[in-house]
Amino acid sequence: MKLKHASVYLSLILLIVILSFFEDLFVQEIQVVQIYTKLLYGVPLLFLLSAFLAFRINETSTVLISLSFLIMSLSGPLMSYLLTAAISEEILVSFFRAMPAISAFTLSIIFLLPVKIRGKSLSGLKIIVFLLPFLYFFNPEYFDNLLMLNNLYQDLTLPIPGIFASFLPLASTIFRRDRRAGVLSLSITASFIIFMLPGILMLEESLLLSCYLFSGIIMLHSLYRVYWENAYIDELTGLYNRRALDERLARLSKGYSIAMVDIDHFKNFNDTYGHEEGDNVLRLVAKILKDHFGASAFRYGGEEFCIIFRRKNAKDAAALMNEARLDVASHGFSIRRSQKGRKKSGRKKSVKGIKKVKLSFSSGIASPGISRPDPVEVLKNADNALYTAKNNGRNRVEITRNR
Ligand code: GH3
Ligand code: MG
Ligand code: MG
Repeated sequence: MKLKHASVYLSLILLIVILSFFEDLFVQEIQVVQIYTKLLYGVPLLFLLSAFLAFRINETSTVLISLSFLIMSLSGPLMSYLLTAAISEEILVSFFRAMPAISAFTLSIIFLLPVKIRGKSLSGLKIIVFLLPFLYFFNPEYFDNLLMLNNLYQDLTLPIPGIFASFLPLASTIFRRDRRAGVLSLSITASFIIFMLPGILMLEESLLLSCYLFSGIIMLHSLYRVYWENAYIDELTGLYNRRALDERLARLSKGYSIAMVDIDHFKNFNDTYGHEEGDNVLRLVAKILKDHFGASAFRYGGEEFCIIFRRKNAKDAAALMNEARLDVASHGFSIRRSQKGRKKSGRKKSVKGIKKVKLSFSSGIASPGISRPDPVEVLKNADNALYTAKNNGRNRVEITRNR
């Protein structure tokens, strides 16, 4: 999912780079530019919204990058206000001098995030990037060149430490496990980079505004995406959840089969190895089911899953399900021995290595048959077939047909 998003954003950036070669074609569209300018006011608002959302899902890097972006984007209007307000020239000049350093500073705060990349916290680098903007105050003229990409677009200057800093959340998304947070910080970083592009590529006004617009669209998309994932994706396994299943069932008409899947002796597993390892088993089984059945796999609840086979009769569905079952049974589950080994041996953490635990599931499959009952009815039949599979010794697939 993240890769898909990343590639879309990357294509968008590429598109802007390509468009920048044909810039002359766009410059004349004054009316369009005016509409864009109005839309532009929405971008800081979107960043504020995502900061709020990121705060709700406990995502520090995203909160920080959104807020610093917000400060950056508000500093423009603030400057133009100061220009028109009757204040002394001296104050104005010093404010202008400080402005780039302030934006560089705001952005480099991102670099202080407790993000680890490949297990390393990169503390030294983080501190240097964070402190760089402070050098500005010692010799502004000299550090203008060192810290800022200067005068690239009219008065727009880009803070170099900030640009580096904005890549950090991007890098961290690649290595993180939390899907929702990953998607959000990836979008914000992409949005941010696109916001920076006009300065780097020295784009004309119409393309500059297009970039801002794209930047806003990406933010909107990520807000929608997070909402959507909260509603339809099971957090533990990343599969579609029960709500998504109910909606999908309601849309089914004819020519389908439904499979119920239940992990064998899972309670035993939890009791022996703990719930945390139990959760890892759920993730593993979910991943194998997803590899086999893609978007047709759902987490029904607990350690039970449901698969919808469209345009497949029960027999064909059973053949496919058997492949997944064999995959899980041959895969097994690896556990670090030191965790539970100490109970039996009385030693602490001395038993190293990995223990393979057997893992299997049972499955029951049903199809609507001729009488075409309600999909919920079919699901009940699949559940009955699952009980048969359990009674017949587990690690097997059974079929029921509706009459
Ligand atoms: P059977 O082979 O008959 O299915 O035996 P079982 O022990 O798997 O079946 P049962 O339904 O009695 O146990 C289900 C267990 O699944 C109970 C609970 O401890 C565990 N479980 C349900 N949801 C979760 C979860 O989200 N995480 C973990 N770790 N365990 C869960
Ligand atoms: Mg169960
Ligand atoms: Mg079970």
